Amino acid sequence: MTNNLLMFIYLAASILFILSIRGLASPETARRGNLLGMCGMMLAVGATVFSPYVSDYVSVIAVIILGGAAGVYFALKVKMTSLPQMIAAFNGLGGLSSVFISAAEITAGSEMLLENALGLIIGAVAFSGSAVAFAKLQGLMPSKAIVFPLQQFFNLVLGLASIALCVYFIIGKDINVFYMLAALTIVLGITLVLPIGGADMPVVISILNAYSGWAAVGIGFSVNNVLLIIVGSIVGASGAILSYIMTKAMNRSLISVMLGGFGSDSGSETKHENGGKTAKAGNPADAAFIMKNASKVIIVPGYGMAVAQAQHILKEMGDDLHKKYGVDVKYAIHPVAGRMPGHMNVLLAEAGVPYEDVFELDEINREFGTADAAYVIGANDVTNPLARTDSSSPLYGMPVLDVDKAKTVFFVKRSLAAGYSGVENPLFFADNTYMLYGDAKKVTEEVVAALEK
Ligand code: NDP
Repeated sequence: MTNNLLMFIYLAASILFILSIRGLASPETARRGNLLGMCGMMLAVGATVFSPYVSDYVSVIAVIILGGAAGVYFALKVKMTSLPQMIAAFNGLGGLSSVFISAAEITAGSEMLLENALGLIIGAVAFSGSAVAFAKLQGLMPSKAIVFPLQQFFNLVLGLASIALCVYFIIGKDINVFYMLAALTIVLGITLVLPIGGADMPVVISILNAYSGWAAVGIGFSVNNVLLIIVGSIVGASGAILSYIMTKAMNRSLISVMLGGFGSDSGSETKHENGGKTAKAGNPADAAFIMKNASKVIIVPGYGMAVAQAQHILKEMGDDLHKKYGVDVKYAIHPVAGRMPGHMNVLLAEAGVPYEDVFELDEINREFGTADAAYVIGANDVTNPLARTDSSSPLYGMPVLDVDKAKTVFFVKRSLAAGYSGVENPLFFADNTYMLYGDAKKVTEEVVAALEK
């Protein structure tokens, strides 16, 4: 294959990647976006394998088969609720490959010292930071913030030491300094993510995603691969934009999350005093009765709906309320509900809930005051009013859905347990709240059965 043809195919692949990202911007076009991305990747890998730069086909094809098989296995096996862990693992592997490539380039005598050092630093932070994020999301370690004295100062010192070592390496070209830099930045990745508490994990994942993209850009320059530079930039820039959107949604500062909880609260769990109040248990038949006599019901889905796969029966409930009883039914989605950005939108779309019935936080919050009932199904943190009032809570400052303003609130969940952030929700004990204990799908089936009687 000539170099011109290779560049032409790389250009075509880059265009497909850009169209893919564009497609992923909306649930209606997401499938097409994915398909375009897959075509782009096939072109990119195919062209690279048959490029003049590859001579050892056996090892390249062996790696493609092994990597491809692992990818297919995990894609089939991983549940949708575990996707954040998978994304963290992918980001980590992306970072690790940048570390290996820059090490290989440097040991082979590459003169691109700055590019390789940048690929190494960002890749190492993405690798070890993602490993900690994976462990937190997978429940292998506590998801709450892990803090130790002078942590932010320690991170600052590690960051400055990394910059100093990087400069020293570029001047002295000493391979041992390169290895020291690798070790230091791996520790930095760990200490940056440890102090980030559960509720802020979505932001961390998208920042690590951006890091893995920027690491690929560094490596793209060092191995002189145009496609890697373009694709790395797309991943880095889209990850950065997503991080910005998520930090805005969570009312966090991007810098504070990037510096490892810098300036944020220590994130310790809050034990809420409920003033001796007990939570009132309701039952599905009563919930059905109240909702069918309502004029407006707002449904708030969360992670528990995804676990129970209750979206289809939920849509049936919404349809029954609207079509049989003339109730105005709306769905309210918090930007971090579930375990990945857009998680609830995807599930509701899968169940066939019309897009015009689905509202984002800003649009719906003013409507809770006029709603007769809020049906909160498997959501918890995204409704916690302590985020508005308790400055010592790790949730403090995050905008929440104002479900407490509805006349009656139903919480469908199995117990009074806290959500992902580990913070208790005082709303369970409010006068206008009824707990509908049980699996989200089962409880909603019972509500639907009662509505149909
Ligand atoms: P939460 O994690 O706050 O709460 C979910 C609730 O669902 C739990 O309290 C649990 O209570 C209940 N639940 C679990 N299984 C079932 C079931 N089968 N049936 C009924 N209920 C069930 O979820 P939210 O969606 O409100 O908030 C998301 C949280 O996750 C936020 O803290 C967010 O920051 C974090 N996060 C979000 C990510 C994202 O990108 N969206 C990524 C990573 C973290 P019980 O055990 O009593 O049933």
